[in-house]
Amino acid sequence: MRRAALSTLIGLGAALALSSVATTAAAYCRTTTVLPPSSYDPRKSCWTDGKPLFWRNRCLGFSVNQAASKQVPYGDAVTLVTQGFAAWSNADCDGAGARPSLEARDNGPVTCDVVEYNKNGARNQNVVVFRESGWAAKDAYNTLGLTTVTFNVDTGEVFGFDMEINAADHKLAWGATVPKDSYDLEGIFVHEAGHALGFAHDTTATSTMFPVQKPGDLALRSLDTTDVKGMCETYRSDGKHSLGGGAVFEAPACDPAPRGGFITTCGDKAPEEDPGCAASGRTGGGAGLALPLLAALTVALRRRRR
Ligand SMILES: [Zn+2]
Repeated sequence: MRRAALSTLIGLGAALALSSVATTAAAYCRTTTVLPPSSYDPRKSCWTDGKPLFWRNRCLGFSVNQAASKQVPYGDAVTLVTQGFAAWSNADCDGAGARPSLEARDNGPVTCDVVEYNKNGARNQNVVVFRESGWAAKDAYNTLGLTTVTFNVDTGEVFGFDMEINAADHKLAWGATVPKDSYDLEGIFVHEAGHALGFAHDTTATSTMFPVQKPGDLALRSLDTTDVKGMCETYRSDGKHSLGGGAVFEAPACDPAPRGGFITTCGDKAPEEDPGCAASGRTGGGAGLALPLLAALTVALRRRRR
């Protein structure tokens, strides 16, 4: 098993984001199996090396950590995560109501609160967890959310994801309006759902996948045309999912169970795994190669100037 992490932390002042960054024509970006270099700027172009990530069947499952947040009760969190994924799965692909062929299901609460992927047939959960007392990502900016996607590095098939929301450093709000001192949690979940679905940051400033959110701003809640295009071309309304390069396959029926099966606790061990040889590596097949990829949504402003 090979693991590496990338944190794409793009923090920028609002004026810089909107006025002085040249963007390409509207284009959605899919996360790929190859990590971009640290010098890569997702505001300017898509990173296309490697194979794009994709979900195999027509459903994915998520689980909100049962503790939820002091700011966000469990029931509200489930509703908001559901809405976040529904923004994507309800995209109108043909102007006549044809929907994409991937949707999210709530697998129920879990006690696990760590980002992990249990391999070799062990059970998993795709957890959504609020960080209440500190944020591990020590970036120079103020990260709102972080989605870690684990995938097969040979094929791009997504095995699972975990979503962390920074409730330690920011006031979160939802509903018809969001105060100017708070961040729109509905928009955060739509953005992070996009990462969980396999999309990367977008070059279009109006896109939900643009990597910056301003306090009080509700713009990320609704997909723009580039987001809709990405969802509808990747998870087509005819039931075919895109592997990139024009290749598609017929997606199997909905199965929201995580890979290996669902479990509410952390650290499940594969039944066949012998601890004595766990470090000897995989044998055959590519499924043991999984790579977590982090993608962060950051807040605008607050960049320290010298
Ligand atoms: Zn992001």
